[in-house]
Amino acid sequence: MTLDEHVPFLMVPKRVSKERFDTCLECEHFRHSLKQCKICNCFMQAKVQFQDAKCPDGRWGTWYPRKTTK
Ligand code: SF4
Repeated sequence: MTLDEHVPFLMVPKRVSKERFDTCLECEHFRHSLKQCKICNCFMQAKVQFQDAKCPDGRWGTWYPRKTTK
């Protein structure tokens, strides 16, 4: 496998998952008791950690590390 291949389920840095989760905390679609999104039904403490994840309402998106070039 090369570094350019897409690998699902890679994690984002802590600051990104925190920023995403903070957005969910402020969202009217967030079910606080279960920390779950009412639109996608995902458990957001987990979902916010994956690079491929995105908010179904467009409030935050995928995140990938910047590619370095020589
Ligand atoms: S994923 Fe989006 S719609 Fe769902 S709770 Fe978070 S911010 Fe709201």
